[in-house]
Amino acid sequence: MTEHMQLDAESGLLVSGVLHEPPCGETAAAEPLHRRVRRWLKRQTAPRVEDEVVGAGWRRPPVRLVLPLVIPVLLVPAALLIREPDNLGAFVGLVGGAFAIAYAALAEVAERRVRNRFWLQIFNSLVYAALISAILWAFLVFDHPRPHSHWIIFFLYFLMIGASGLSDDPRQCVGTGAFAVIGYLAVLPLLERAALGGAPMALRMAPEFEWVANSAKVALLVGATVMASASAARGRALRRISLRDGLTGLLNRHAFDQCLERVARRAERTGGSMTLAMIDIDHFKRLNDLYGHATGDAVLRWVASWLLRCFRTTDVVARFGGEEFVVAFLDSDEEGLLPRLETLRQGIASTRLRHLGSEADIRVTVSMGTARFPTDGRSVSEVLACADARLYAAKQAGRNRIVGGGSPARGAAA
Ligand code: GH3
Ligand code: MG
Ligand code: MG
Repeated sequence: MTEHMQLDAESGLLVSGVLHEPPCGETAAAEPLHRRVRRWLKRQTAPRVEDEVVGAGWRRPPVRLVLPLVIPVLLVPAALLIREPDNLGAFVGLVGGAFAIAYAALAEVAERRVRNRFWLQIFNSLVYAALISAILWAFLVFDHPRPHSHWIIFFLYFLMIGASGLSDDPRQCVGTGAFAVIGYLAVLPLLERAALGGAPMALRMAPEFEWVANSAKVALLVGATVMASASAARGRALRRISLRDGLTGLLNRHAFDQCLERVARRAERTGGSMTLAMIDIDHFKRLNDLYGHATGDAVLRWVASWLLRCFRTTDVVARFGGEEFVVAFLDSDEEGLLPRLETLRQGIASTRLRHLGSEADIRVTVSMGTARFPTDGRSVSEVLACADARLYAAKQAGRNRIVGGGSPARGAAA
């Protein structure tokens, strides 16, 4: 347990009280560096809740992205093969393109099945960078030397980096750019041998080979990666604005509804479950009337920060409207959740809030209603209605309490 003091500069609201440590099960004590690094890495690669939101941003289904990129590029080797049926380079290009499309179809199936798409998408970038490098290598080894063919293939790295910019995820761009650079560096010795006349086949392409030109090419790949990352970061920021509530930073109602639909459909498909908790601040209108809206806003932000501290990153926490919040716990059983909600209820009720310069404590309490999918309703709206009815029951029973499926009312009297 620690004494906690915090000032909301905008409203002059002073939060002073006892925070439960660790808050709702999280470790707040000093950790060794390697654990902190591991936790940071885990946070960086964890699935982001925004990714659950249907239609938010531009999620890229691999096949629909790869097809328009690859098909125009494939027209060239296809036309070449018609004119020169024994052109090995064109054949390699066609096979590589077909592999890219087939792999994209596989990746699309895999994306629907995995929860954390981060590593899958990084792996996709690795596969595509390796494919482009392999085609480049094959051209250097087997193709009739054509001065421009290696340039054409080199530009495929740019297509790949540009496509990663559509992911709204700068991490993907950096990963893709790194694989492109590594892939190109891997075939560079072959280019050099080709230039010096020592290529395995009679290869006389790239007479212009020199380290300066190749360093410039790598620099261009790095530049493209920086631009794609900046574009992805901007996309992510815009997405955040459209999905998050400006006051509390939690998901907004629109994002929550879409997220929930998606999660419920997955629960239906996999036989999993989900629990919803509706959380409402008690007598909030009175608090606004007594202390003003700025203080009311500060209390909303403060309750939101409690919610974020108390639940896992995989739980979906949203501002449902006004002074109501909603949390969707994925794959959790209701009985296991109630102690966590109880810790939240008690934590909020036991923290003292005070206006700077005032002696009077502001008491904030919350009431909650929980419901479970699919036992308490066959659709998301039915489960929400059930949680809402139980929240109403908690209010009727005296507020500052939790009403769930099993228990008629848990908590302290208001
Ligand atoms: P109950 O215990 O039954 O929930 O009563 P209540 O007063 O909390 O509920 P009621 O629905 O009567 O009032 C909700 C109030 O929340 C009214 C509205 O002015 C206030 N409110 C809604 N959104 C905001 C906001 O963004 N900021 C502030 N400061 N107040 C808000
Ligand atoms: Mg209320
Ligand atoms: Mg309300």
